[in-house]
Amino acid sequence: MSPLFRARLPALLAGIGLTAWLALPGPLFAQQAAPEIKPEIQDQLPEMGTAAGATLSLADEYSIGRMVMRGLRDSGRILEDPETNEYLQSLGLRLSSLAQSGNRDFTFFLVNDPTINAFALPGGFIGIHSGLLLETRNESELAGVYAHEVSHVTQRHIARSIEDQSRTSLVSTAATLAAILLSAVAGVGPDATMGAIATAQGLAAQSQLNFTRENEYEADRVGIGLMANAGFDPNGMADFFGEMGRRTQLSPDWVPELLKSHPVTSARMAEAKGRAAQYPPVIAHDSMSYAITRERVRVLTTPSGRDPRDYYVSVNDNEADSSVAQIYGKALAQFMAGDTAHAIPTFEHLVAAHPEVMQFHTALGQAQLAAGDNKAALNTLERARELAPRNVPVTIRYAQALLQAGRPKRAHEVLLDLFNNVPPSPEQIRLTALAANQAGDVADAYSYMAEYHIMDGDLPLAMNQLELALSVPSITDVQRARYSARLTELREAMPKRGPQPPAPGGSQPPRS
Ligand SMILES: [Zn+2]
Repeated sequence: MSPLFRARLPALLAGIGLTAWLALPGPLFAQQAAPEIKPEIQDQLPEMGTAAGATLSLADEYSIGRMVMRGLRDSGRILEDPETNEYLQSLGLRLSSLAQSGNRDFTFFLVNDPTINAFALPGGFIGIHSGLLLETRNESELAGVYAHEVSHVTQRHIARSIEDQSRTSLVSTAATLAAILLSAVAGVGPDATMGAIATAQGLAAQSQLNFTRENEYEADRVGIGLMANAGFDPNGMADFFGEMGRRTQLSPDWVPELLKSHPVTSARMAEAKGRAAQYPPVIAHDSMSYAITRERVRVLTTPSGRDPRDYYVSVNDNEADSSVAQIYGKALAQFMAGDTAHAIPTFEHLVAAHPEVMQFHTALGQAQLAAGDNKAALNTLERARELAPRNVPVTIRYAQALLQAGRPKRAHEVLLDLFNNVPPSPEQIRLTALAANQAGDVADAYSYMAEYHIMDGDLPLAMNQLELALSVPSITDVQRARYSARLTELREAMPKRGPQPPAPGGSQPPRS
């Protein structure tokens, strides 16, 4: 096995003063556009001075956002589900790719939280709560929330808000983040790191609450334009915020988190409605993926101790009485409750009737796997791969089936192919490392974990993993050259004042 990494370390964006400590490498894997921010574009952005006289660059924003993401991921609040992520990412990119600074990377993710909220972190990380997704009545309403948050990012409201309201706080956060990097290098325990992440999260929450009214109007205005251009009903944003506002008036005790940061005033609604009316009317049809993902999230976020089947008691199994999404949701609930005997025939029926919907194939494959029928699961997922090569959820479910069927070599192969061709999520890299490890490709497993830590911004841990990879006696010359080159890149990316890394190759045992 000789994996060819397409990933590369993008040029470091230079920072000055404290911000230099924040300027970790940008995203390794572009979500869509190139990860580097082209200098000429950065020059067009408004000048933003900080108390330290430095600039909160896009790289700084990304580093802060990534830090918060790491905290969210470590606390288990992010729903790591390939099928859900695939849909949210494609919906979000449909909007963000039309934004003026659409060359920026966006990561759209779901937070497992029943409250109704959405937020944009510095660096283009946009989260919505499962409660909000379930509360939307159509895809244009969901697109409206995304378009609004995307616009906060592209208009750089977050950076401005951080700087306007908390110059000292920015400096102390930068100092705290610098301390994390130092403590990581020095091997200080995780408590200090968690404290610093909490600070960064507090900063994000604070900035979320303190967008100016002008910022909100601008995010509405820019967002409505994005929606119209992407083919959604531009009324979707006002519809959703308006409905939330109406329900709050009916029961004043019920105020969604989203409305605390986004007060719905009649002036704001009138402006949003008027803005939407300037675009030609659109009859937007919800995608099948929207309806299915809503049911999937409903089932996957069922609180523990509750039976996901309860919601679907009144849903019949035929399409005359129920929507396809409801039938899927009911079968998924049965599968989650361990009732594969009922779930499998329904999924088989859905695959036969709608072969273009990959979520039906992966659900069937997973249910067959759970029922212990590895052969049927592999057949189902192989067929799905033929229909949609390199589809991320299909490949991940196929690899999981291969692992369960005792074929880790093949699992490593298909995941490596995906890794080399599609920007991976951290969870995906972890699965790839697991497959490599089970296949006996231990050195590759270490090198994947290095990539995982690089995505997390933890360069010392990444370097440690590469040193472990280099210490595996059986590695080939090609592997040695690749790991060494990567290690050198990381050493050069490390903050200058950290302890000096060992000389290249210093940790290698003699080759056997
Ligand atoms: Zn807003």
